[in-house]
Amino acid sequence: MSSYVAEFFHRPTSLLHEQPSPANLNEQLNNLARRPEKIQEARRLLSRHLLTACVHAGETIDQVTKSIPTPIYQSAVYAFDSMKDVIAYNAGVEDGAQGYMYSRPTSPTQRVLERKAAVLECGEDALATSSGMAATATAILTLVAQGDEIISSNMLYGGTYSMLKHSLTKFGIKTCFVDTRNIEAAEKLVTQRTKVLFVETPTNPDLRIADIQCAARIARHHGLKLMVDNTFATPVNQIPLEMGADVVLVSTTKYYGGHNDLIGGMIVGSRDFIASARKTLKVYGGVIDPFAAYLTLRGLKTMALRMERQNLNAMKVAQYLENHPKVKRVYYPGLRSHPQHELAKRQMRGFGGVVCFELDNEKKAVRFIESLKLIIHGLSLGGVESLVSMPVYSSHYYLTPQELEEIGLNNTMVRLSLGIEDDEDLIADLENALEDT
Ligand code: PLP
Repeated sequence: MSSYVAEFFHRPTSLLHEQPSPANLNEQLNNLARRPEKIQEARRLLSRHLLTACVHAGETIDQVTKSIPTPIYQSAVYAFDSMKDVIAYNAGVEDGAQGYMYSRPTSPTQRVLERKAAVLECGEDALATSSGMAATATAILTLVAQGDEIISSNMLYGGTYSMLKHSLTKFGIKTCFVDTRNIEAAEKLVTQRTKVLFVETPTNPDLRIADIQCAARIARHHGLKLMVDNTFATPVNQIPLEMGADVVLVSTTKYYGGHNDLIGGMIVGSRDFIASARKTLKVYGGVIDPFAAYLTLRGLKTMALRMERQNLNAMKVAQYLENHPKVKRVYYPGLRSHPQHELAKRQMRGFGGVVCFELDNEKKAVRFIESLKLIIHGLSLGGVESLVSMPVYSSHYYLTPQELEEIGLNNTMVRLSLGIEDDEDLIADLENALEDT
């Protein structure tokens, strides 16, 4: 094992030590992806063959053209041979000879992407959506109705926070926010009306960790559905469904796609839940287009490779920043100084590609960002290019000063999303910018 590989995963993984994958691995993964009753087997296989699964899971050689990459089926509508076939389709035969009717419920390129995501996240099935926000909205609207309640992490991506705090209340759906670093506190908020426990871990932007197994125990005990936003970790670093979560949500705009060139989302869960979510999506319409589905599929093939490098770059940058006299505080779950480092070590294989830190004041934070030459000032994360932003002006811009204070975000915080560049180049850029600050 190379020292590079050993470094980015904090503990050895079976991926690094197991025997080479069997020749028929692709076939096995594809079969398992279609058979929910085999999910345990899929999990075992996946833990040993993650890189292979990213490349091959869910995919088959196109039978018509023999194209190796899954083609973009740029089609909105599909022909039927007979009314009998229409009736069979309407009765729910989705994956037979006549699997497609109209591309809002799903389409062929999208379906391959969904199968791959289901394998990687260890779910029975998956539903691709037009954005991460569409995934969250679709999953939540599938589970809650007027009068229902949600319990959620108080630190969340700003868009999700706004949806829960402001948009859903218009429909009579109330969310109680709680600091999910102490997940037991969530239990005290459960009422007869609570339907969902919503957890983002690690959180955007300051990498707080929630104990997923403990959250799953609480959810099970009270008959709630546990939803985990796995955008920051990705299945390379954390598999919430294995730890008892019911639904995984992903902004595939980030690490799944990995190249800052698409917007997309994913919901992963049981076959029944995904079937219900697909009905919700059919009504609300947040469908992914075939080209974005294709780009996401292409991105996924290298996700494990990219994530490994991003884990490593983030760890090195976090360590560098922690020792810099101008940096007040660094937030990264891979650091021993992170208050939840032990929990992160238990439930994550790597700690992800985002590092957050504080400088003395807003003026210095702005000057630092504007002095960077290699790291780009851009308001997203998870791509191959390293990006920097200030959460109060990006992911959390729409929160009021009072809301920011309540959740503990301030205007001295800088968020770095590490890409796949050489770590020495990234650190040299940070060094120069800090000198200027
Ligand atoms: N979840 C998290 C953790 C995010 O960071 C984001 C976006 O930044 C989203 C969800 C929303 O994703 P999208 O921008 O693809 O709608």
